[in-house]
Amino acid sequence: MQAHIVGGGFGGLAAAAYLIRNAGVPGPDITIYEAEARLGGGFFLGGNAQSGYNLPGSVFDAEFRCTFALLADIPSTRDPSVSVKDEFFTFNTQNPLNDPAHIIDRMGQIVHGPHYGLSLRDGLDLVKLSLTPEALLDGRRIEEFFPADFFRTEFWLLWSTIMGSLPQHGATEFRRYINRALGLFPDLADMRHILRTPICQYQAFIEPLASWLRARSVKLQTGTFVRDIDLAPALGRITVERLECERDGVVCPVAVGPQDVVLLTTGSQAADLSAGSMTAPPPKRRSSSSWALWQRLAEARPGFGHPDVFFGDAVVSDSRWVTFTVTTTGNEFIDQMTALTGSEPGRGGLVTLKDSGWVLSLTIFHQPEIIGQPEDTKVWWGYGLYPERTGDFVRKRMDECTGAEILEEVLRQLRFDRQFDAIMASSICVPCDMPYVNNIWMPRRRTDRPRPVPEGSTNLGLIGQYVEVGQEVAFTIEYSARTAWEAIHTLLKLGPPPPPVYQGEHDPKSLLGALKAFVAQ
Ligand SMILES: Cc1cc2nc3c(=O)[nH]c(=O)nc-3n(C[C@H](O)[C@H](O)[C@H](O)COP(=O)(O)OP(=O)(O)OC[C@H]3O[C@@H](n4cnc5c(N)ncnc54)[C@H](O)[C@@H]3O)c2cc1C
Repeated sequence: MQAHIVGGGFGGLAAAAYLIRNAGVPGPDITIYEAEARLGGGFFLGGNAQSGYNLPGSVFDAEFRCTFALLADIPSTRDPSVSVKDEFFTFNTQNPLNDPAHIIDRMGQIVHGPHYGLSLRDGLDLVKLSLTPEALLDGRRIEEFFPADFFRTEFWLLWSTIMGSLPQHGATEFRRYINRALGLFPDLADMRHILRTPICQYQAFIEPLASWLRARSVKLQTGTFVRDIDLAPALGRITVERLECERDGVVCPVAVGPQDVVLLTTGSQAADLSAGSMTAPPPKRRSSSSWALWQRLAEARPGFGHPDVFFGDAVVSDSRWVTFTVTTTGNEFIDQMTALTGSEPGRGGLVTLKDSGWVLSLTIFHQPEIIGQPEDTKVWWGYGLYPERTGDFVRKRMDECTGAEILEEVLRQLRFDRQFDAIMASSICVPCDMPYVNNIWMPRRRTDRPRPVPEGSTNLGLIGQYVEVGQEVAFTIEYSARTAWEAIHTLLKLGPPPPPVYQGEHDPKSLLGALKAFVAQ
C-alpha cells in the first residue's frame, strides 16, 4: 500500500506520523506533496534577522489530545532527549502567562471590571447558546443570539481578540468554543491557562515532526502542487486512481491503486498569504490553489461540502487579518511596554488597544522566539482584527499599509512619542496579509464541510480545518490532527480511534469556574 498525502501543514505531517504509529505503514511508502517551498502551512517562519522575521502568534490549551499524543513521541529540536510535548508543558509551567493589562484604552488605562462587563442576561444567553443543539444553529450568526451591548463588553473584546470571532460569524463554531473554553473563563483576562510554544511554532512543532518523518524515509516533496485528482468511474463509489502533480512547471501523473490511500488537505487558513516590508504593503495574492482540489471534488458531488462558504472573494471582508512581526535591535519598545503593562517579555499574553480603529493586539514573545535569533535582537508580533478599517493616525486601511505605517500607528496609539524615532530606526516591521485566516468562523451549515471519509469513499480521506468532526474547535492544529487520525482509522480500520474531544460543559471544575466568573466574582 502507498499513502499519498496532499498538503504538508501540521495536518499532513501528523497524518504521515499516525500512518506509521497507528497503522504500521512503512515510512518509505508515504509521500507528502506540498505546493510551497517549505512545509508547515499556517505554522510558517519567513524572513530573517536582517530583513525582519514573519511568523504567526501562538495560542493553545492543554486539551489538544490528538496533537499531544503524537508529540509525546517526537524528540525536540533543541534537546532530543526531551519530547516536543514535554518541552512544551515544561516551558508553560515555568513561564505561565500572567497578563495584568490585556485591554488598554486610549488614555493608557487598563480596562477590567467585574464579570467582564457581562450582565446576568448575557450570562444566561451564553448558557442558552451553549445548550442549543448544533442542528438548530445551521447558518446562524452569533449576533442573532445576543443584544448589541454584549458586543461592547470587556468579555467580548477579550474573547474576540484571543479567538478571532466577530458578531457576524457563525453561532455553531462559537458554541463549540464556549463549551471548549469554559475552563478558561475565570482567567480569560490574565490568560493564565492559555499556553504557547517555547519558540516559534515552526521550530517547536513542524521541524521536529518533519525530522522524525525524514528519519523514517517518508518522502517530503515540497514545491509540488497537486493540481488534479481523477476518480475511477463507478456509481456510488469514490476511488482515486490518479493524482496530477506539477513541479518546476513539469507535470507528472501519479498512479493510485485501489489499495492505496490518498489523504487530501482541503484548504488552508494561510491561503494566499503574502508578506510586505517596511516600505511596501503586502501584495494581494489570488491563487485559489489551496482549495482548488476541494472545489473540483465538490462540484458535482453531494457529501463533499461547499468550499464557497469559506473561500472566494465574497468571504474575505469577514475573514482577513493583517498580522505584523517586528524585529528590533533596540530596547525602547520592550522597555516601554514593560513599564506600561507590568509584564516582562513573554509573560504578558496579548495587549489589545481597545480604541484603535484596526483593533490592534500585540504580544511580546519570550526571547529568543527563533532558534538562531541574534542575542541583541528581539521579536514581537501583533495583528489587526479589523484591517479593512481606517487607522486613527495613519488614515489608511491596514491591509494597504507598509510595515513602517503600521508601526507608526501602533506607536502613536500607545503615545510612545518620545521614543518614536529611536524605535522606528531600530525596528523592521513585516506586514502579512492573510485573507482567509479567520474563515473557519464563517456561518456554516452542518453539511458545508465534508466528513473525513465521505460516503462511498474507498481510498480517499479528507483532512484539515474544512472537514467536519463533531465538537472539536477549528483554528487549531488539534482540529487538523483529529481529522487525520479519524480518516486513517476509518479507511484502514487499524490502530485506536482518536481520543474523545474535551468538552468543558461536562467538566464540573470548568462549570464551577465559569459560574464563579459570571456570578460571584
Ligand atoms: C496567523 C495564524 C496563527 C495561528 N495560531 C494558531 C495557534 O496558536 N494554535 C493553533 O493550534 N493553531 C493556530 N493556527 C492555525 C493553524 O495554523 C492551523 O490549524 C494548521 O496550520 C492547520 O494545518 P493543516 O495542515 O490543516 O493546514 P495548513 O497548515 O494550512 O497546511 C495546508 C498545506 O496544504 C498545502 N496544499 C493545499 N492544497 C495543496 C495541493 N493541491 N497541492 C499541494 N499542497 C497543497 C498548502 O500549501 C499548505 O501548506 C494559526 C494560523 C495562523 C495562520
